[in-house]
Amino acid sequence: MLHEMSWTEAKEYFTKNDMAILPVGSNEQHGPQNPLGTDHLIAKAIAEETAKRTGVLCLQVVPFGVSSHHRQFWGTIYISPRIFKKYVRDVCLALNYYGVRRIVIVNGHGGNLPALMELARELREEEVFMSIFQWWEVAGKLLPDLFKSEERGHAGAEETSMNLALHPHIVDMDKAVDEKPRRHFTQTDGITLPFDTVDKTSSGVFGKSTTASAEKGKEIFKVVVNELVKHVALLKKAKTEDLMQKSKV
Ligand SMILES: [Zn+2]
Repeated sequence: MLHEMSWTEAKEYFTKNDMAILPVGSNEQHGPQNPLGTDHLIAKAIAEETAKRTGVLCLQVVPFGVSSHHRQFWGTIYISPRIFKKYVRDVCLALNYYGVRRIVIVNGHGGNLPALMELARELREEEVFMSIFQWWEVAGKLLPDLFKSEERGHAGAEETSMNLALHPHIVDMDKAVDEKPRRHFTQTDGITLPFDTVDKTSSGVFGKSTTASAEKGKEIFKVVVNELVKHVALLKKAKTEDLMQKSKV
C-alpha cells in the first residue's frame, strides 16, 4: 500500500516497477441492508488482495463516483463524470511522474465506466496504459450458476453476498428485501431511458437480495481475485510497445 510506505520506500518501488493498482468506487445507496460504501469497499478488498499476491503497488481507494442517479436515496455522495475523470486522471499522472506506465483500475461501480473508458483512451495517447477490471463481469461469466439473473442486479444477492463475505458487521440481512424493478410504460426493446433508480425501485434493490450468503460471497471473491491476478501477471510481462498506440498504417 502506497500510503503505508515512506518516500524512500516509494522511491525504491518506483525505480524498479512501472505498475500500480488503483481501486475506485462510489458512496451510494445499496438497499436497506447494505452500507453506502459497498462499491468502494468491495473494490478496495479485491485490489488489496491482488496487490498482496502480485507484489504490485496498491493505492488508497477513490471512494466517490458517478452516482447522481441514486441521489434520491439519502447519503449518496455523487460527483459529475467530468470531475471524476479529471480526479482519476490527476492521480494517474502523479503516478506517471514517478515512472508508472501501467495502471490497473479496479472499478467497483458500473456508473464510473464511461468516464474511465474515456480516460483510458486519453491516457494511452499519453503513453500510459490503463486497464479496467469489474468483478461482477467475472462472477457472471465464471460462476454462471451461482445466482439467477434476478439476483445479480444492483444491491441484489450477488453484491450483498460479497458484503457478507468481506465486511459482515455492516450488513443487516434482517432489512434485506426483494423488489422487482418497475418497467416504464415507454420502454420498448432497444431503448435506453434517462431514469433515476427511484423511478424503478422504492427500496433501492433491483431484484432479489434475501438469498445472499457469505459462503457464496467468498466463492466469488476467490474467483475474481484469481482472474485479476492473471491479468496483472500478463500486464507485468507485456512489452511496453505492445501496449501503446500503433502508428498509422
Ligand atoms: Zn454496487
